[in-house]
Amino acid sequence: MRVLILGGTTEASSLAHLLANDARFEATLSLAGRTAQPAPQALPTRIGGFGGIDGLVRYLRDEKIVAVIDATHPYADQISAHAVAACGRAAIPLASLVRAPWTRQAGDQWIEAVDTRAAADAIGRDPRRVFLTIGRQELAVFASAPQHHYLARIIDAPSDDALPPNLSLVQARGPYDLAAETALLRDRRIEIVVSKNAGGEATYAKIEAARELGLPVVMITRPHKPAGHVTAKPEDAIAWLDHVRRSLRGV
Ligand code: NAP
Repeated sequence: MRVLILGGTTEASSLAHLLANDARFEATLSLAGRTAQPAPQALPTRIGGFGGIDGLVRYLRDEKIVAVIDATHPYADQISAHAVAACGRAAIPLASLVRAPWTRQAGDQWIEAVDTRAAADAIGRDPRRVFLTIGRQELAVFASAPQHHYLARIIDAPSDDALPPNLSLVQARGPYDLAAETALLRDRRIEIVVSKNAGGEATYAKIEAARELGLPVVMITRPHKPAGHVTAKPEDAIAWLDHVRRSLRGV
């Protein structure tokens, strides 16, 4: 049974591992191509956009895909909207692996911001030393608050020319641990952290480190992300695939 996984997350890679050793399914992993050297994957991988909803419908038909699992990042809302629309149009079942958001713990000083622009405003008027952990695509938004000194952690260097003036970069790829995150925030004299509510374990240490150091975190609210049948874990997604397989075979 031919399956498409929309990936780019830890869960998608775990799912790819499980499917690579499962003779019931013939799966392909799709990545957006946001990183120059993606981590090695257990499944055959295609990279790059499909060309909107029409392109995705075409791909699903050409490749004779029977089921799709959307395991993309919680802030990648466009590809999820496309997946819902394209699977609807092609009458292909869709499941979505949804990662639970982090929730505020005692000691957390979160400032909620509805989007990245609001996050830049929320840092405040006075110059501060800011740790930006929002990826590379929206760094330019912080040029609207040039009074701050930014340390941005990214996987690949940004190509944008409209970056904030006082910007230092640290290139790294998670997972991160608490001791190293605490040391980074201390050594770089960070006063405030800006984060997306990614959920999961891999990048949570910065939130714990901020809590321990008494630092505020500007937390960008998750966008509305359209979904198919919601599953929480890669194993649940496999069970759903098996359910689809059985119903197609009339078992
Ligand atoms: P997006 O805004 O949802 O998608 C933009 C376009 O990228 C889609 O319309 C699609 O192009 C293509 N695309 C996205 N995911 C794809 C996939 N798995 N396979 C093939 N094409 C895909 O997503 P984004 O631009 O990647 O990221 C949006 C937000 O998520 C950002 O804030 C980013 O920092 C965060 N984020 C994303 C990832 C990731 O792996 N994508 C990882 C970490 C964080 P077409 O319309 O041409 O098909």
